[in-house]
Amino acid sequence: MLSHFSSFRLILVFVLSLWAPWSSAQTLALTFDDGFNPTTQPRATQWNAQMLAALHEHKIQSALFPSLARMGGVEGLELVAAWAQAGHLVGNHTASHRSLADPKVSLEWFISDVQAADAMVRDLPSFVPMLRFPYLKEGDTLTKRDGLRAWMARNGYKSAPVSIDASDWYYNLVYAAHLKAGDADKAERVKQRYIRHLLDRAAYYDGLAREILGRSPAHVMLLHTNQINAEALPEVVSALTAHGWTIISANTAFQDPLYAQAPDTLPAGESIIWAHAKAHNLPGLRYPAEDSVYEEPLLRDAGLVP
Ligand SMILES: [Zn+2]
Repeated sequence: MLSHFSSFRLILVFVLSLWAPWSSAQTLALTFDDGFNPTTQPRATQWNAQMLAALHEHKIQSALFPSLARMGGVEGLELVAAWAQAGHLVGNHTASHRSLADPKVSLEWFISDVQAADAMVRDLPSFVPMLRFPYLKEGDTLTKRDGLRAWMARNGYKSAPVSIDASDWYYNLVYAAHLKAGDADKAERVKQRYIRHLLDRAAYYDGLAREILGRSPAHVMLLHTNQINAEALPEVVSALTAHGWTIISANTAFQDPLYAQAPDTLPAGESIIWAHAKAHNLPGLRYPAEDSVYEEPLLRDAGLVP
């Protein structure tokens, strides 16, 4: 009897292991860029707390990549520190938030900008020497792209790429404008479209990954610290979960070997999956991969652009 049961179990394990590659759940980590600025955003403290409460509620360990220009320097440091105290990774998103693809930004200047931000956030308890490039732009020339890659290798820094890019910043602009104008109904409709946009982008980049890598990686999604995320994060998490996504920690996601790779593209950057697809000359890729130019007509057609 026992031996029958054991062989049944062995067969079951064997069959499940065969199935595993096809049935494995899609996973993603949520990461946030910029940081709130209490000087220019009167509700910065409240929004920061709302985002942290939503992550805590859903037991999500995330990562924050603050830029001094966006968080108002030392003004926003306390809000960034709250993320570190809550156990979220804190990385580097430069001091000035300039694009390395800008011909006016030199490699030397960009490195000093990374170092200025490093000096500000390095002592936070959950600091990780990981760089999230502003605008996901990793250089417009080989000298800048490879020079920065070499500098990071020499200085114990790693890139913090994303696999799922989206335009949350644009939906936030439109959402905030409706709220400011007192139109809560339109703001709510923008929020619902925003959630569908994130689901759509997650599905798109996962499909691209399966095509290029032959597997669904541990994804890293790019979001920002902003009002729409402060107010919609619980709904975003529910929608992702309802569509088959399992949210994993940023720590776990970044261990996927995908993020240690350096695709050969120029201008370098965008989602790392997009960059791989570009390096493989996959047709039909749009550039920039994500931008308001794609979202604005959709919201305009729906009568939602103020
Ligand atoms: Zn940014």
